Amino acid sequence: MDLESPVQFVKGVGPQRAEALATLGVRTALDLLLHLPMRYEDRRQFVRVAELRPGMRVAVSGQVTVAGLRRARRLSIYELRLDDGSGRLLKAIFFNQPFLRDVLNAGKRVVLFGLVERDAMASRLLVMRSPQYEIVEADEHGGIHTGRLVPVYEKLGPLTVKPLRRVLAQLSEQVPEDLPDPLPAELRERLGVIGRAEALRRVHRPGDDDTLEALNRFRSPGHVRLILEELLLFQLGLARRRSGVRAERKRAAFSVTDEAREAVKRILPFPLTGAQRRVLREIAEDLSAPHPMNRLVQGDVGAGKTMVALLAMVVVVENGHQAAFMAPTEILAEQHFLTLKRLVARCPYRVELLSASVKGRERKQALARIASGESQIVVGTHALIQEGVSFARLGLAVADEQHRFGVLQRDELRKKGYEADVLVMTATPIPRTLALTAYGDLEVSVVDEKPPGRVPIRTELRQASERRAVLELVRTTAAEGRQAYVVYPLVEESEKLEDVKAATEAREEWAAALPELRVGLLHGRMKSAEKEAVMGEFARGAIQVLVATTVIEVGVDVRNATLMVIEHAERFGLAQLHQLRGRVGRGSVASSCVLLAYGRLSDVARARLDVMVETEDGFVIAEKDLELRGPGDFFGTRQWGLPSFRVANLLRDRDLMERARAEAFRIADEKSLAPALEQFFGAGGWERRFGLARVG
Ligand code: ADP
Ligand code: MG
Repeated sequence: MDLESPVQFVKGVGPQRAEALATLGVRTALDLLLHLPMRYEDRRQFVRVAELRPGMRVAVSGQVTVAGLRRARRLSIYELRLDDGSGRLLKAIFFNQPFLRDVLNAGKRVVLFGLVERDAMASRLLVMRSPQYEIVEADEHGGIHTGRLVPVYEKLGPLTVKPLRRVLAQLSEQVPEDLPDPLPAELRERLGVIGRAEALRRVHRPGDDDTLEALNRFRSPGHVRLILEELLLFQLGLARRRSGVRAERKRAAFSVTDEAREAVKRILPFPLTGAQRRVLREIAEDLSAPHPMNRLVQGDVGAGKTMVALLAMVVVVENGHQAAFMAPTEILAEQHFLTLKRLVARCPYRVELLSASVKGRERKQALARIASGESQIVVGTHALIQEGVSFARLGLAVADEQHRFGVLQRDELRKKGYEADVLVMTATPIPRTLALTAYGDLEVSVVDEKPPGRVPIRTELRQASERRAVLELVRTTAAEGRQAYVVYPLVEESEKLEDVKAATEAREEWAAALPELRVGLLHGRMKSAEKEAVMGEFARGAIQVLVATTVIEVGVDVRNATLMVIEHAERFGLAQLHQLRGRVGRGSVASSCVLLAYGRLSDVARARLDVMVETEDGFVIAEKDLELRGPGDFFGTRQWGLPSFRVANLLRDRDLMERARAEAFRIADEKSLAPALEQFFGAGGWERRFGLARVG
């Protein structure tokens, strides 16, 4: 059977089910084949009825002796006795399947698989309730549902477990021996993997060489082959992009000139940490290379990434080019604008803010200064590239706190003709497998050291009933001349009106409870000028308590703020909690974070909050987060530019990802690609396969 043919033509599917399957993305026979079992059960060994014990989950084989259908209130119960000649009978009951009267009638030879229990009526009798069954004579190929290592599937639209097993058992036998294999023989040999056709067959109909243990770990030869293929193709795409960038020639390379060194000295308010220096060296090397820089700087919140980026920008500016600094939100862009402007005050640079609040004539003039090259540093949001702002000589584009700045966004920079060096910075610590996936085409630098003098943040979990104590804590903090954030879990960007209302009310409550303090409010619906005013007041200390929504999640930097109260902490994800907590502990004074939880906590919520109390290490938190949520959720939305894998799983397949990556980067360095691979990468095959076509 041609695996590219519509799923409708697969035996047992048909047009109606095909329609339902299409909505799940299953359109071809191959799509269906890639719906792998979630686990396997060993039903090869039949246990004799005389040897059964309650609690066993086994297969038995025998003949139906007596059978009958009865009704009990609204239930219909079909009951039978199975005799396997071992001297004892097994009872089996089925609920609401009256048709079994015609299927499992007396005299039939059947195999039953299920959990053995003691019968409620007669304790010496053993029973299976709703076991899986199979009529032996009817199946000439040997058992599908029993008598072998049996795959157990997750329901797929209209196809429930048993029909699915039947359909896939048949379909997997029709996989053509000469199925094209994107992995050439020589590569398969080096990887030690089996062919594609065999793999597709074996995951659905395990052979004699497969063990239950390997199958259930997704490490049977069939699994390894399919997973490696997927990861390898994905990594190969990244590797090709990376070598593509390396083959490009940028308009200008930048060296660390004496002037640049001088400027850096004038700007730096403190000595750099070892990690900052190392990362800066790595960046400087990229800046001076003939090909564009494509680098990710990872570092926990407060590690000092902004300073590193600024110094890189200084090098570029001193080489006569412009630098753009892109923040994820307007508020942050404005804040960074002020910070950067203050830091470079001793250099003759013009720093430009291009945010939504800059309008009309002002905007026109700013755009003109950027186009003429008069402004050396431009701060804004992503809109900078999306709107294709024209620069006279853009040399470096920095995307700050940009976990959402995926593969395609980076492409966009190039497509808009900027040909600039690109530096992506993220404070979201990412487990390695995810980093290899989301940023696998980038060079990575890690700022893995915090500036000296930081005191650990004390984190505690409190119940809503202890709110009074929290209020006292805020009071004490203010009395010591420090400031506090109170954060509410509202939806960023799309903050709805009722959310804004809730935040406004919360501010009033806090203000009423703390009449002696000034309590400010910050949310995403405020006008830029208002936001700026509030942030300014908070930064100056004119406001002691800032009630805010998650708009303060990233980047906000007020050292005198030493207390973070997170209301409804149970509603936040771990990454977000970590980001929020990172807003305090930025100076050398001891800071604390209070997680206020409401109501009974779910196990997962409890686990999240416990992690927060236990550690401040962003990477530990990230690994834990991935574990608690699974990779799909880890990045929240598809917008992150994560590929969609069909058989691979980022949590489970870390080892295979590493192997795939090493192999992919080796292949990419070879001169020519095998024809099968060449074909796949031509005409957007890679983007399509991994669902990386443009989002939004
Ligand atoms: P990140 O962007 O990595 O979260 P920032 O760049 O905002 O961190 O830095 C956090 C704080 O630490 C800022 O107030 C910054 O001025 C300060 N800082 C950065 N580097 C150093 C350093 N080497 N020594 C002392 N303070 C530093
Ligand atoms: Mg930052």
